[in-house]
Amino acid sequence: MVFTWLPDWKHNQAMDVNLDTGKLIVFLGGLFLMLLIETFAPARGWQTGRLKRLLFHGSIALVNTVLIRLLVYVPLLLWIVRVEQEGWGLSRWLGLTGYTELLVSVIVLDLFDYFWHRANHRVPLLWRFHKTHHTDPGMDVTTALRFHPGELVISALVKALWIVLWGPTVIAWFVFECLVSFSAQFHHANIDFSDSIETDLSKIIVTPRYHASHHAVDRSYGDANFSTILSCWDRLFGSYNRPASAAATAWTEGSLGLPEAPLKPFSFQSWLFDPVNKSNLSLSRAGSRSGKGKIKY
Ligand SMILES: [Zn+2]
Ligand SMILES: [Zn+2]
Repeated sequence: MVFTWLPDWKHNQAMDVNLDTGKLIVFLGGLFLMLLIETFAPARGWQTGRLKRLLFHGSIALVNTVLIRLLVYVPLLLWIVRVEQEGWGLSRWLGLTGYTELLVSVIVLDLFDYFWHRANHRVPLLWRFHKTHHTDPGMDVTTALRFHPGELVISALVKALWIVLWGPTVIAWFVFECLVSFSAQFHHANIDFSDSIETDLSKIIVTPRYHASHHAVDRSYGDANFSTILSCWDRLFGSYNRPASAAATAWTEGSLGLPEAPLKPFSFQSWLFDPVNKSNLSLSRAGSRSGKGKIKY
C-alpha cells in the first residue's frame, strides 16, 4: 500500500489521539454508569460473582485492545482518512454533507452491523468466534466486553469494506462507534424497565430485555433479534422473535447462554482456544426455530 497521504501523518496522529480519548471517555462513562445502575437496581440475581465477571471480561478486553490496536485499529483509521480525502463511497456520490451525512451514515452503518451480526450466526466460520460472546451464562454490562480477538479482526476487515462502500466522514464513523459502544453497554446491562416503557422504547432502540432474548438458551429467540442500535432492522428483515413474557427466557436461572455452552465459561483457555478446538467444529446452532411464543408489537 502506498501511503500517498503521509504528509498528513502528523495531523492524522493528532486526530487519532483525540478520537481515542473521546472513545475512551464514552466507553468508561458508559461502563461506570451501567455498573452503578446494576448495583442499585439489578434486573436478575447474580449467579456468578460480579467481581469475577468484571475481572474476567475486563482482562479479555485488555488483551483484545492491545491486539486489535496493533493489528487493525491504526490501519483502519488511516483507511477512513484516505477514503474521506479521496471522496470515495456512496455517501459522497449522493452529495451528503454535514448533519445529514452524520445521521444517514449512522443509520446505514447500523444496518450493515445488523447484517454482519446475522452473518455471525449463520456462517459457521464466523459463528465459531461469535459463539464466545454467547457462552456467557449470565448477562451484564461486562458481557459487552466478551469477544474473541478472531471476531474482532474479521470484523475490522469487513468494516474496511463498509467504509469504502459507504464513505462516512471520520466524524460520522467516530459518532457511530461511540453509539455502538454505548448501545452495547446499555443493552447488555442487567437492568430493566417497566412493561410499558419497555414496549415503547424497544420499538425504537435495542433495550436490555430485547437483547436478553438474543442471549436466550432457547435458540428460537437466541437465533433472532440481531439489531444493535435501532430495533427496526429485525422487524424489517424478518428476524424479530421475542418471548411473550420476559420471565419465559431471561428472568429464570439457566435461561441465558447456549444449550452447548462450555463447562468453564470463565476460563481464559476456553475463551481463546475453543474456536479452534476440534471438538468445537460442529458449530451447532443447536435449537429449534419453531417461533413459539412469538409476539408482535
Ligand atoms: Zn449474537
Ligand atoms: Zn450480546
